[in-house]
Amino acid sequence: MTAYDDGNIFAKIIKGEIPSEKLYEDQAAVAIMDIMPQTKGHCLVIPKAPSRNLLDASDETLATVMPIVAKLARAAKSAMNADGVRIAQFNEATAGQTVFHLHFHILPMFDGIPLGQHGEASGDKAAIAEQAEKIRKALVAA
Ligand code: 5GP
Repeated sequence: MTAYDDGNIFAKIIKGEIPSEKLYEDQAAVAIMDIMPQTKGHCLVIPKAPSRNLLDASDETLATVMPIVAKLARAAKSAMNADGVRIAQFNEATAGQTVFHLHFHILPMFDGIPLGQHGEASGDKAAIAEQAEKIRKALVAA
C-alpha cells in the first residue's frame, strides 16, 4: 500500500494551514463542511491521526472516531431536517477516494432527492456557511 503523505489537503486543514468551515474539533478529530457538497449539510469527519484511509488506520483511531461520526450524523440530520443520513468512506482511487487522509462523509438524505455526483461541483459558499451554522447549533443542543 502507498505510504501516507502529509502534503494532502486534510493534513493542511488539521494544521490550520488552509481555511475550512469548521463544525467541531477535539483532540482526536475535526469536522468540516465539504466544499463540493452532494447534498444539503454534507460534512466530513477527519481523524487527526495520520492514515491514508481505513485500510492503514489503527484500531484506536477507528474506535475514537466512530462516536464523533455518530455525533455529527445526528446533528446534521436534525439541523437539515433530513429524513435519513448516509455515511460514506472510500479507500483508494479505484474506490472513489480523492483525498488520501482518512475521512468519513456525513450525507443528510431527503425523501425523493438523489445525491449529487461525488466531487462534481463547488457548492455555494454562503449556503454552506448557513448550513454549518445550523449544524453547530444542533451540536450544542445535543
Ligand atoms: P473522497 O473522494 O476522498 O472521499 O472525498 C474527498 C472530499 O473532500 C470530496 O467530497 C471533496 O469535495 C472534499 N474536498 C476536497 N478538497 C477540499 C477542501 O479543500 N476543503 C473541503 N472542505 N473539502 C474538500
